[in-house]
Amino acid sequence: MGERIKEEAMEIITAFSSSSLPRLVVFDLDYTLWPFYCECRSKREMPKLYPQAKGVLLALKEKGIDMAIASRSPTADIANTFLDKLDIKSMFVAQEIYSSWTHKTEHFQKINRLTGVPFKSMLFFDDEHRNIEAVSKMGVTSILVDNGVDLRAFRQGLAEFSQNSGSSARDKQK
Ligand SMILES: [Mg+2]
Repeated sequence: MGERIKEEAMEIITAFSSSSLPRLVVFDLDYTLWPFYCECRSKREMPKLYPQAKGVLLALKEKGIDMAIASRSPTADIANTFLDKLDIKSMFVAQEIYSSWTHKTEHFQKINRLTGVPFKSMLFFDDEHRNIEAVSKMGVTSILVDNGVDLRAFRQGLAEFSQNSGSSARDKQK
């Protein structure tokens, strides 16, 4: 199943020209990559991702697009244990996991400092509207997921990113 989803996700990526792809894709954790709040779980459990999430991550990895995590989870130790158990921890170039009073604007400032990737070259997936609202104001293309990261949300994210980057390219020519 993971392989088939990965192939489909790679086809979705290939449908966009490489100049209109994000340089960095940032994911929330709870209710975006996995269907629970990790603060309510035990480190001893074996977590599961949403069914199509791993395929999307593998496709981005294979296409050489960097990935990062922006989570406001108060239990970074549990989140890190789960990322390890799922064997995906090494896929992320930045992992910002801590609670904060802001709606992830701090997380994104940190990710920007760490990676050097400008906000307008980032694509972000999250299940909370307030985070989407705050982060999109920074210039990041931000997609609200309602049932975790899946192929539909992924396609929508790349399409919106491509539209946003297209309009900024036109703005520059004026
Ligand atoms: Mg969440």
